[in-house]
Amino acid sequence: MPSKPAKPGRDLDRALDAMPAAYIECRDYGHIWRSRDAYWVAKERVYVQQLECARCATIRVRELNAHGHILSSGYRYADGYQMPAGTGFLTSNARDGIRLRSVTAAMPTRDERKHA
Ligand SMILES: [Zn+2]
Repeated sequence: MPSKPAKPGRDLDRALDAMPAAYIECRDYGHIWRSRDAYWVAKERVYVQQLECARCATIRVRELNAHGHILSSGYRYADGYQMPAGTGFLTSNARDGIRLRSVTAAMPTRDERKHA
C-alpha cells in the first residue's frame, strides 16, 4: 500500500499564513528575473550584475569573469521572504504545502463561482 504523504508541519503553516501571496508564487514557480543593473569592476576584473524579481523584489547578485563564467551568486531576499529561523531546509512535504497554498489561492472563491 503506498504511503500517504505526511502533512506539512504547523510551523510551516504559520510561516505561510504570514507570507504574501507573491512570495508563495515565487517559491512555487520560481522568480521572474529582470535585469536591474550591471557594471565592470576593473580592479577585480569582474562583472557585477544585479537582477530583480518582478514579483517579490528579491535581488540576485552575480559576479562573472571576463569570459562570462559565474564566480559567485547570491540573493538579497525581500523582507519576510525567508522562512523563520528553525524552520530549516524545506523538505519535500514542505514544498507540497507551498504548492497547495499556491493552487488554492488561484482558485475562485465560492462567491466568485456564483457570480461568474
Ligand atoms: Zn520572486
